[in-house]
Amino acid sequence: MHVLASGVFMQVDLHTHSTASDGKLTPLELVERALACGVDLLAITDHDSTAGFDSLGEASFGSLRLVAGIELSAQWRRQTIHVVGLNIGRDRDAIREAVSVQQAARRTRAGIIAARLTKQGLGDLTARVEELASRISIGRPHIAEMLVESGAVRTIDEAFRKYLGNGRIGDVKDEWASLPQIIAWIRDAGGTAVIAHPEKYQFTRTRLRELVEDFRAAGGEAIEVVSGRQAGSETRTLAALCQQNQLSASTGSDFHQPGQHWAELGRQPAVPDDCRPVWEHW
Ligand code: AMP
Ligand code: MN
Ligand code: MN
Ligand code: MN
Repeated sequence: MHVLASGVFMQVDLHTHSTASDGKLTPLELVERALACGVDLLAITDHDSTAGFDSLGEASFGSLRLVAGIELSAQWRRQTIHVVGLNIGRDRDAIREAVSVQQAARRTRAGIIAARLTKQGLGDLTARVEELASRISIGRPHIAEMLVESGAVRTIDEAFRKYLGNGRIGDVKDEWASLPQIIAWIRDAGGTAVIAHPEKYQFTRTRLRELVEDFRAAGGEAIEVVSGRQAGSETRTLAALCQQNQLSASTGSDFHQPGQHWAELGRQPAVPDDCRPVWEHW
């Protein structure tokens, strides 16, 4: 995505995943791919973890500016919402607390999912889930992979459709922190809170407006107006929502792995000119 900011074209990607959570590239491979794709500003936003970003230390990467980020799962009206935290101070107590609480929730949830799948006769995944959860930020995609490897399903998609997606046996109701708590952690760590991929929740317009209002009231500052290669009509709707609520706009591919053309690094459509880019906060 190219943005005209202070007279310069910038390619920005503020939502990406590494092997610290459910991405396929290591943090270093991710940065190298971003450089090859011409990205100028990159945030690594692993699910409930800063380990990927942290592993890069103080290294610098030429023309690429790296922003510390995280994607936190939050509870809002008994639904799961993803909130991206950008430009966080990674050593701040607030973000350490957030990671520690959310990781405990992820480990517990993964254990429950494994137990339920085992009970269904899909093989005992408990030991593998525990081992993985001790090393990385475990999520449903990892469990889906285990089901593919064991031959219980043929594809990741089938694993979500049959066992892990909405309303399925492995869709364990999350015990994520509340939306205001998630936003407070991000702000206390010096970061900017962004509603991730608003279209993914499949809310009605009214419900989405209510989410945005609650989010803003709790100190949230931006909406991901562009997420991957979405339609222009979606972008315009979200840009209008930003303006109505005096929120800034973010953009990200939600890159998880190479080979998904709709989520290549930095290739999203442009953020509309009439939005205030979130990176102008920093
Ligand atoms: P979790 O954070 O454990 O709830 O897992 C959510 C992650 O699963 C998302 O960030 C996506 O990367 C992935 N995901 C969600 N739905 C699907 C699906 N239908 N097929 C493949 N991956 C999915
Ligand atoms: Mn993911
Ligand atoms: Mn997400
Ligand atoms: Mn994501």
